[in-house]
Amino acid sequence: MKYNILMQSSKLTSFILDKIMVLVLLWVCLAVLPGCSGTGQESASVPGNSIPSSLPGGADSSPYQADTQNPVVEDGITEVEVVEVIDGDTIKILLGGRVQKLRFIGVDSPELNHPARGEEPLASSARDFTRTRLAGQTIRLEFDVEKTDQYGRLLGYIWLGDELFNETLLKEGYAQVVTFPPNVKYTERFRSAQQIAIQNGHGLWSQENQANVDGKKTYVGSLQSNKYHFPDCKWAQQIAPERQIWFSSPSEAAAAGYEPCGTCSP
Ligand SMILES: [Zn+2]
Repeated sequence: MKYNILMQSSKLTSFILDKIMVLVLLWVCLAVLPGCSGTGQESASVPGNSIPSSLPGGADSSPYQADTQNPVVEDGITEVEVVEVIDGDTIKILLGGRVQKLRFIGVDSPELNHPARGEEPLASSARDFTRTRLAGQTIRLEFDVEKTDQYGRLLGYIWLGDELFNETLLKEGYAQVVTFPPNVKYTERFRSAQQIAIQNGHGLWSQENQANVDGKKTYVGSLQSNKYHFPDCKWAQQIAPERQIWFSSPSEAAAAGYEPCGTCSP
């Protein structure tokens, strides 16, 4: 009799334990699954993943004051007038009745007023090239996934007929490829254009320009990312020694598929 009660009590315990297991599993599923759907949003917080900005909101002596507070964007491809060229990869356009600053997607030209290094090599040439091609022109503006950046600038692709001007800058060596997901529509096309510029020694990749940097400086990247840095960059210093990859020039880094860090602009 005592044995029988023990058996029944044991069956009851087993039954209750089964129910608890089912409840715990249900709770785990509900708690974990919603978190999985949000992972697509995290690319914006990757270290160094911010587009370098010359004059993001600083002094602007231009007669065309850009409105960066409430950017106006339009879907599809829009015809706009270029009212001013600021540097190789930044212009001001008239869109929606307002002057707005526009940063080209996927490319980075040398800066005229780098915070640490002043005017970078070829910055004036890049600006003059863009000015010659775009100033006063009507262009077609194509947006990608993100239409504005953290500085309130529009982000776009510049079309002149069939010519993608962002790509032209790369072919001429007046810019390097920089990729900022999710704006990656023409990334492969841009990398190919840059490879051609490197092979032909155009602009930034000319022997003369590379001679200024080759052998005097080194650059470091991480095996786990595609960015390269000056060794004193705060992001470079977080790369563990076993994950470091070193380059003797920007062209060597670019040929290996690396892009300049947005923080230290190597
Ligand atoms: Zn860096």
